[in-house]
Amino acid sequence: MNAHLKARTGTWLPAAVLGFSLIFGPAASGPKEKISGQKKFLLDWLARPQTLERFGGISDAIWSYAELGMQEFKSSKLLADTLEAEGFSLERGAAGMPTCFVASYGSGRPVIGLLGEFDALPMLSQKGRVPKKDPILEGAPGHGCGHNAMCTAAAAAAIALKQVMVKYRLPGTIKVFGSPAEETIASRPYMVRAGLFQGVDVVIDNHSSSSLSTGYGRDGNAIFSAIFTFRGKTAHSAGAPWMGRSALDAVEIMNVAANFLREHLPLAHRLHYVILEGGEAPNVVPDKASVWYYIRNTDEEVEAMYDRVLDCAKAGALASGTELAGVRVLSAVHQRHANKCLAELIQKNIDLAGMPAWTEEENAFAKALQKELGKEEKGMPVEVGKLKAPGEVFVGGGSSDVGEVTLVAPTATLSFPGQVPGAIGHHWSTVAATFGSTAWKGLNAGAKVIAATALDLLTDPGPLKKVRDEFEATSRQHPYKSFLPAEAQPPIDLNQDLMKKWRSLMERSDQEP
Ligand SMILES: [Zn+2]
Repeated sequence: MNAHLKARTGTWLPAAVLGFSLIFGPAASGPKEKISGQKKFLLDWLARPQTLERFGGISDAIWSYAELGMQEFKSSKLLADTLEAEGFSLERGAAGMPTCFVASYGSGRPVIGLLGEFDALPMLSQKGRVPKKDPILEGAPGHGCGHNAMCTAAAAAAIALKQVMVKYRLPGTIKVFGSPAEETIASRPYMVRAGLFQGVDVVIDNHSSSSLSTGYGRDGNAIFSAIFTFRGKTAHSAGAPWMGRSALDAVEIMNVAANFLREHLPLAHRLHYVILEGGEAPNVVPDKASVWYYIRNTDEEVEAMYDRVLDCAKAGALASGTELAGVRVLSAVHQRHANKCLAELIQKNIDLAGMPAWTEEENAFAKALQKELGKEEKGMPVEVGKLKAPGEVFVGGGSSDVGEVTLVAPTATLSFPGQVPGAIGHHWSTVAATFGSTAWKGLNAGAKVIAATALDLLTDPGPLKKVRDEFEATSRQHPYKSFLPAEAQPPIDLNQDLMKKWRSLMERSDQEP
């Protein structure tokens, strides 16, 4: 947060719009049911201009920090400090990860968990609210997935819930799980292994989006993320190449074998890699090389697929006369199994909160961005989404470590707006759109839905019982067993070098939008 951000707030956010949007419904959708005094108090608190400005400022600050996974020291601290100042008790450095935290408020059952992420992506630096590619600092990280708004939405919801718990003396516990490195799918399996979700009755997850929506069922791929390292022998590449054993050859042979393997993998698979080390000069046979793989498939197929890729690595070592010196599994997670009863409850509160009303300026920015991307110029979204069922045919796709949580506690994900429809994920256009007023309003709408859903679960045992019953039935069909090898440790060194390179340059450039 800085003076620059604050100075712009007043022009973006007419209080008249904000003050009434919650109770009487915003432009697009009105309230569908009579709400309790407790819920009205909760939503009124979130609808205050100062609440919107406070959490919008946090979102913009995290956007400016743009810290990569496991290096989110400033982002994590800002959120943890904010919650601590509100009376939450903090466990920092949870599960062996310095940027992981659990913030708890209240006591007794039910225990309601809120997930929150805050990591950025490499190479996406971009000025905020500028509808054409224009980096702040060429090559630096940027928030290309809207994670700046996500733990912020969870924190806003948690603090709103605290207000209502104090006022109405409600029993129960709220826990915010500050979760590092979602983009590298790296924290949740370790958080589960450390027992952080033990005794948690239900978990509400969130993700920034261009919609206000939710869904249920199995989604996304399970994944193994692993680095394969080979050791060979150096030699003069021209003088006596027969004396050398090239570790780079091993990587290349492994990759060729893995690419042939694709033809024989079950349909939903995804397989991709980057070479991390491959030598330093052509005239020295490389004695060390490493390659980082993402190996993705369904929960049922992913372990066997990982074993086959491991065989490709062994083949690379055998053929090149090198040694497969190390296989480091950074992370391994399951598919997402979202709870239907919980998603239905979230949907009710989506219909209640409604889509924020966007200003002319916000719609004009969205249209300019859509034009730049060659997309339909329809501006910001108007309608909230309908409850999404899983697709009839599973075709594979991305992964999230939220999947791991869905198997140890009933979980569903709220998508909240703020991004521009048509903006591309992990791309400068999303970085441009996740800063400023639309992100503020979007995360505020998200916080309303999260908090209202949590309040329903806190105050009425009926919905929680349905959610838990469904979860117990799913757990019987799909009992949880971690994919992590016992020796795997949280990859807290991830992105250390990259962030070391960029942090001081970014601070010097001030990351102003
Ligand atoms: Zn994301």
